[in-house]
Amino acid sequence: MKRKDAIILTGDHHLSTSIRTPLRADAFDKTDAEKIENIQHHFKMIMEELGLDLTDDSLSGTPYRVAKMYVHELFYGLNPAHKPKLSTFENKYSYKKMLVEQHITIDSACEHHFLPIVGYAHVGYIPKDKVVGLSKINRLVDYYARRPQVQERLVLQVLNDLQEVLDTKDVIVSVTAKHLCVSSRGIKDQSSYTTTLEYGGAFSDPNTRQEFLNIVSQTAL
Ligand SMILES: [Zn+2]
Repeated sequence: MKRKDAIILTGDHHLSTSIRTPLRADAFDKTDAEKIENIQHHFKMIMEELGLDLTDDSLSGTPYRVAKMYVHELFYGLNPAHKPKLSTFENKYSYKKMLVEQHITIDSACEHHFLPIVGYAHVGYIPKDKVVGLSKINRLVDYYARRPQVQERLVLQVLNDLQEVLDTKDVIVSVTAKHLCVSSRGIKDQSSYTTTLEYGGAFSDPNTRQEFLNIVSQTAL
């Protein structure tokens, strides 16, 4: 297969290679300000290549706006310095049943097309000795969503971190999201969306998993 055909195929099948987002060794050697300046330059080149006149008032600020948005908003989650601190508490109430944090907003971007992935995540766990602040779950999901991403990897990254800090395998993560690279290009399917589900421990039992799915099924996309 020709290299270009292989690139197109990979993008359409949305294959992911590893649970870790592939990053260069020098990924954070430059400051955010340097990155914004460089991206601004490169994005201006793209716009000019497309034939746009950047002396127009409406377009002149776009390269800077895009660069700032990439570094500070859409892709801030690439930088491990921004990872939320997942402080845990002792499970004093001995709550041993399922806790579900649902309808967590997903604002991500697919790494194959840099187009938005929008939807919701639902996270459940059964505490052992530790519990985590509820909003920390939302922050963790947002951190992993805010980078060029594939949905399969997103659920795995959230699951792994929560299993580690909560010191239990009894965690489940689902994401249901719309991919603009499916709806606005390629197959141009406006109505489909994608669900990914990853779990461990007690959630391997179909009954426990079903209990979680019953709770989150009340949530419409
Ligand atoms: Zn895509």
